[in-house]
Amino acid sequence: MPDEQYPIIVWFRRDLRLSDHPALFAAAQAAQPIIPVFIRDASVDRLGAAPKWRLGRGLEVFQRSLKSRSSRIVLRSGNALDVLQQLVRETGARNVYWTRAYDPEAIERDTRIKIELSRQNLIPKSFDGHLLFEPWTVATRSGQPFRVFTPMWRAVHRREVSEPLPAPSLLPAPQKWPASENLENWKLGHEMVRGGSVVDRHVQPGEAAAQAHLDAFVDRLDLYSARRDQLGEMGTSRLSEYLALGEISPRKVWHRVQNASLVGTLGADVFLRQLAWREFAYQLMFHTPHLLSSNWKSEWTSFPWSTDAGHPVVSAWRRGRTGVPVVDAGLRQMYVTGRMHNRARMIVASYLTKHLMTHWRLGMDWFADCLVDWDPASNAMGWQWVAGSGPDASPFFRIFNPQRQAEKFDPSGSYVQRWVAEGQKNPPETALAYFDAIPLSWGMSPADNYPHPMVNLKEGRLRALDAYQRRETH
Ligand code: FAD
Repeated sequence: MPDEQYPIIVWFRRDLRLSDHPALFAAAQAAQPIIPVFIRDASVDRLGAAPKWRLGRGLEVFQRSLKSRSSRIVLRSGNALDVLQQLVRETGARNVYWTRAYDPEAIERDTRIKIELSRQNLIPKSFDGHLLFEPWTVATRSGQPFRVFTPMWRAVHRREVSEPLPAPSLLPAPQKWPASENLENWKLGHEMVRGGSVVDRHVQPGEAAAQAHLDAFVDRLDLYSARRDQLGEMGTSRLSEYLALGEISPRKVWHRVQNASLVGTLGADVFLRQLAWREFAYQLMFHTPHLLSSNWKSEWTSFPWSTDAGHPVVSAWRRGRTGVPVVDAGLRQMYVTGRMHNRARMIVASYLTKHLMTHWRLGMDWFADCLVDWDPASNAMGWQWVAGSGPDASPFFRIFNPQRQAEKFDPSGSYVQRWVAEGQKNPPETALAYFDAIPLSWGMSPADNYPHPMVNLKEGRLRALDAYQRRETH
């Protein structure tokens, strides 16, 4: 076969987009047939219920988007190396391209695949695109990875970010398409049970929706700095789920916001700094992968956090029945929409790890099951940051008082009203939707009395501080 006829396999993972996709762009430049592939391997099966459901929704839209360009995505299940080798045999492809992932399991898998395919004289190639800066390109003056955010931000915020690439105008099809499994048969939304149809009302998957969110956000960028912490407001970009699944690239977001700042829009720097927190999380995951599973600071290993996942206080926390309205509102917002306001994430995480003295891992796992914007690095960093065990963390003794947080960030009480039905005469649809989403076995009803706080806030705080002080004196 002449070179120009060998197809190139582009293996899509968490990068379901056409524009600013360096791997796809390179394949298109080669002017050879392109076979887009998605593999349902163990990493997909391991996803929590909501991210897996969201992936399924993203794939639906991505399939349509490829179809509109006379292309398609080949879906296969199994071990990624086996699937790729099989596809190579079926199609005669020589090149396999993909966008880099940075979690330890993906790195191990991809490295093995690269070695094996190269051994067979194939050309596997990984590309950037998931981050603004590759983790190994950002270092302190002494060449070490950053462990504190602000110096990293200072080091990168004036740095050149490459211009986003356009979507390829042509995706040449192979002469014969390899067979594909059927997305519906994958039942990626299966574990959502009743929740899928409720969360679906709040989700608009796909690259076009991501772009629309970005455009709408840039129009209100001026207000970002003032509103981003207000629980009841639409002050933030809501881009996280698109970034998590790669339906938009961070470079595209960066440039769009930077260009807005050139014409004098306020808030751009504050926003770009937040985007850089995502980079920081990835840096940490790449250089110190234990971020995902154990205390980043080892001295926290002996801290007496409870790890009893079935403890009644943990169940009540998961169900949004702690008796602390702002905590319950955050947890319910997540159950109904698959997202939670950043401020609420900090409040519920502080409450779990401090007032309830429960290990951050239990909270992190619950988020991994419920968030449509679940991201391994940002989730782990967020939890360890709040718990105090992480890098550049909020110190453990800084214990959020949820009531004060609510007074400050939900002064009108609109956030709590929107999400907690019990005790309201005419609860809004948003609060009622929670009862359509949760498992029937939880036996909850909007007509229930709202519970008394499970833990007295002052006592909970003192208990946590006591544990912290005893830990320090040992
Ligand atoms: P915006 O304020 O518009 O910010 C723009 C983008 O910057 C976000 O989309 C996100 O990519 C990035 N960003 C903003 N804040 C942070 C942050 N603190 N850490 C890392 N990146 C940030 N974010 C996730 O994307 N996935 C998660 O699983 C996740 N889990 C979290 C768990 C905890 C306990 C905490 C405290 C935070 C977590 N975050 C997570 C970070 C943050 O809450 C979300 O990124 C943010 O709420 C998303 O909303 P937005 O896109 O409207 O944010």
